[in-house]
Amino acid sequence: MDKMNELFGSAVFEDSVQKVRLPDNIYKQLRKTKEEGTPLTREVADVVANAMKDWAVENGVTHFTHWFQPMTGVTAEKHDSFIQPDGIDHVIMEFSGKELIKGEPDASSFPSGGLRSTFEARGYTAWDPTSNAFIKDGILCIPTVFGSYTGEALDKKTPLMRSMEALSQSAVKVLHIIGDTDVKRVITTVGPEQEYFLIDRKVALKRKDITYTGRTLFGAPAPKGQELDDHYFGVVKRRVSEYMKDLDRELWKLGILAKTKHNEVAPAQHELAPIFSQANVATDHNQLTMEIMKKVAEKHGMKCLLHEKPFEGINGSGKHNNWSISTDTGENLLKPGKNPHDNPKFLLFLSAVIEAVDKYQDLLRSSVATAGNDHRLGANEAPPAIISMFLGDDLKAVLDSIEDDSNFKNKKKEVMNSGIDAIPDFAKDTTDRNRTSPFAFTGNKFEFRMPGSALSIAGPNFILNTAVADVLDGYAERLENADDTTAEIYSIVRDTMKNHKRIIFNGNNYAESWVGEAEKRGLCNLKNTPAALKMFVADKNVDLFVKHGILTKDEMFARYEINLENYSKAINIEAKTTVEMAKRDIAPAVASYVKDLADTVVSKKQIGGITTEFEESVINHLSELELKLSKAVAALETEIKKAAEMPEGQEQAEFFADVILPKMNDVRAVADEMEENTAETYWPFPTYGDLLFSIQE
Ligand code: ADP
Ligand code: MG
Repeated sequence: MDKMNELFGSAVFEDSVQKVRLPDNIYKQLRKTKEEGTPLTREVADVVANAMKDWAVENGVTHFTHWFQPMTGVTAEKHDSFIQPDGIDHVIMEFSGKELIKGEPDASSFPSGGLRSTFEARGYTAWDPTSNAFIKDGILCIPTVFGSYTGEALDKKTPLMRSMEALSQSAVKVLHIIGDTDVKRVITTVGPEQEYFLIDRKVALKRKDITYTGRTLFGAPAPKGQELDDHYFGVVKRRVSEYMKDLDRELWKLGILAKTKHNEVAPAQHELAPIFSQANVATDHNQLTMEIMKKVAEKHGMKCLLHEKPFEGINGSGKHNNWSISTDTGENLLKPGKNPHDNPKFLLFLSAVIEAVDKYQDLLRSSVATAGNDHRLGANEAPPAIISMFLGDDLKAVLDSIEDDSNFKNKKKEVMNSGIDAIPDFAKDTTDRNRTSPFAFTGNKFEFRMPGSALSIAGPNFILNTAVADVLDGYAERLENADDTTAEIYSIVRDTMKNHKRIIFNGNNYAESWVGEAEKRGLCNLKNTPAALKMFVADKNVDLFVKHGILTKDEMFARYEINLENYSKAINIEAKTTVEMAKRDIAPAVASYVKDLADTVVSKKQIGGITTEFEESVINHLSELELKLSKAVAALETEIKKAAEMPEGQEQAEFFADVILPKMNDVRAVADEMEENTAETYWPFPTYGDLLFSIQE
């Protein structure tokens, strides 16, 4: 236990360290900044910087970096050393408040969309004192936000932090009106559950597609897949278990609350869930978790795949974004309590989420739109591309009774009885699970299940926060003008149900019939990334972000362009990899098998009197496929050239979705048939079976 206490957060300049190392008044000012968002002075920053440096140097650190999250989706760092000449012959280790507060990376190498022309190459990073500095690979990392010199946000964290502030202000306003005057801040809390695959490194590295694109572009199904459901929650293999232990230790050092780990549905698939924290910290921690997952895997001779769909026919990986809002007095505003019908505060905040998700369903959908995630959504393993909300029957009944003003009787909690005396009975959870819902109420939080495994959670959360803030502002106005705020709350809930209940769906989201039903309800069904991204810049959505000061119109269009570009580039790389593997690996391998078969035919004929029917039929079949493959590859190459000549943007992205992807699938279909008919020793790379069952002990 003691050991664990020492380990947890040992690589973090955390509160307890700050308390010991900072003068009392400085510590208090920093704490106030963290809790209330008050700006810090240069003097305070100087003292903090020095204490941070001393702590880091004692831990063997010589360099620091501003650590930020540009629009590439991965984190960025640029290392500087602490050394300063001492004016004589030596150096001293120094780190000033100025260096802590501000960094100046060259912004021109990071995606900026159309913003590039409006600012010079210079960018800046600004310290986020609410997320603790930490030591990673012997470097002091300082969490920062990243923007252009002229003030445009160039990262994922800036809008997230702005949206947390906006939501806090709107929620506090509402709470004050309804009498909760001691609340000063409202905090967005997030716990992201992370799925991933582990493959033996040597096996994985033999696949060009995994190396270049993170997923397999070819592969006939293995005889065994996930049909037995024997992997989910199954016993963890020794190598994986050692990996998980090591991963936990590395995450704990960084103060990351890794808690639950288990096997997932697909072979070689696993999940890690942290304990929730404040949204910006959760975002930093999730980025770090993904990075460390990959690094620790390398150490254990494995490759960690975070792609949303590494294998066709096998479940892909998602990231469940558990989200709630709490007051600084420690109250979870989405906690229904024993009797939700008589809990107006809960009903009000629940209503705000319902209205926000309905009004901005297109935005939420756009926040999870990536090339990889397109293979997951709607593929019978993840929610379809249609946003709806699951509230459970009990809560729905409460809302229905408010809507039609009917009497509501509280249902008694049902008791679960196993029929075995020795096993204690327990009350059934009132919110039964609906694993098919993209946005499910799970007792005291909402679980957004659409994000793909590689996504930064900043996107969905800044959208959710802003949308809810906007709705709360409307409620505040109504409540301010009401004589009886409680009655007004019920009237707000009634209106929300009248206008927005179409978004509530407790049924099976995977069912074919839901698509038609959703269409009747007028819900969006944005099937792929280009369609979803287009909605990000719809007028009503631009208005929302501009109104709340989260993003300017230019910033929004820049993000839209960057995301389209990321999409097109990802598919372009996949298409080129498809061509390369088909032409240079698969075709020659099949040709050599055919040649050997043909040699056998010749030998047999020399001997005479032996049948060559089998060899000839295989040769014939494969020869036909060889011709088909070369034609399919040529057709794909033609389209790749066309795409390259198109200007970047919406139309090009749609071309990748509508033309290039199907042409890639044509190539794959032929190649997979070849694989099934070619002797294994000739096949140029590991098969699905080799990959999915690469870790056996
Ligand atoms: P469940 O059984 O509903 O999956 P868990 O307790 O296992 O619930 O939580 C799943 C994830 O949700 C965890 O990462 C957890 O930290 C997170 N979570 C729990 N409560 C909250 C909350 N109030 N806000 C945000 N995330 C939360
Ligand atoms: Mg979950």
